Amino acid sequence: MVTVYDKTAAGTVARPRHPEKAARADTPLLKKPDWIRVRMPGSPVYAETREIVKTHGLVTVCEEARCPNIGECWSQKHATMMIMGDTCTRACAFCNVATGMPKPLDADEPRRVADAVAKLGLKHVVITSVDRDDLADGGAQHFADTITAIRRATPQTTIEVLTPDFLRKEGALEIVVAAKPDVFNHNLETVAGLYLKIRPGARYFHSLRLLQRVKELDSTMFTKSGIMVGLGEERDEVLQLMDDLRSAAVDFMTIGQYLQPTRKHAEIKSFVTPAEFESYARIARTKGFMLVSATPLTRSSHHAGEDFAKLQAARQAMR
Ligand code: SF4
Repeated sequence: MVTVYDKTAAGTVARPRHPEKAARADTPLLKKPDWIRVRMPGSPVYAETREIVKTHGLVTVCEEARCPNIGECWSQKHATMMIMGDTCTRACAFCNVATGMPKPLDADEPRRVADAVAKLGLKHVVITSVDRDDLADGGAQHFADTITAIRRATPQTTIEVLTPDFLRKEGALEIVVAAKPDVFNHNLETVAGLYLKIRPGARYFHSLRLLQRVKELDSTMFTKSGIMVGLGEERDEVLQLMDDLRSAAVDFMTIGQYLQPTRKHAEIKSFVTPAEFESYARIARTKGFMLVSATPLTRSSHHAGEDFAKLQAARQAMR
């Protein structure tokens, strides 16, 4: 049995990072194939990025999700901020973010995020968050405050939000859209048939409707959604999901390989080959997405700045 504990200050009791998973049987860990190769962290720029994140008291999804691209991204100062704390109120089977009851919101966080974005010199920033089902608005106003603070500090920086689903939070989505991020991302994560197992606290059609509603509220806002593959989904289910996203007028789709954070998480059912990823990308393009990123190491925020420039160019070309 392997239970992962959070680091604790001396003298305090260690708490499992995912208490709801602690009693689960261990799942097997598969050896990664050759095509999943990542750059080790360690460049001076990586250290500088880390320093800016730490001195501003910020949390990043890069670290919390143990993202395999952190060496590459942080060496270019691309860090994805995770606002509203490091503890999530959901308990998805794939996610490494700690679960439990989060702390109250930190009202100064938007200012510190904006300051860090300025210090990192980001042309494009991705802001994500934990799920905050404990808050009346799901944290929508905090997202809006963070967008406003970044706009004030660095008006030239384009902003992408990667939000929770705001399930049962009436009016929350409208608050975030009114703050006018440049890209609105919400990940479906997996196919409909795997929701109960992989994303039990979420609802597939609610997430889809959220994306569709963004376009209804502001047709000029780019929308984006991503999934992981290798969780046991069938190819036809992925193709159906692509159609569902297009029905919701989503512009940009990302597909990446699921990597299992610990033995307590959902097991990897398969490593999807680069050729299969290329095939998914080809089919997705034919279905009408403005942009598709599908590779084993694709993550929602990976190369988000370059992808935003491509989205703008694609829209321009369509005029
Ligand atoms: S892909 Fe995204 S989450 Fe991963 S290190 Fe890069 S910016 Fe962070």
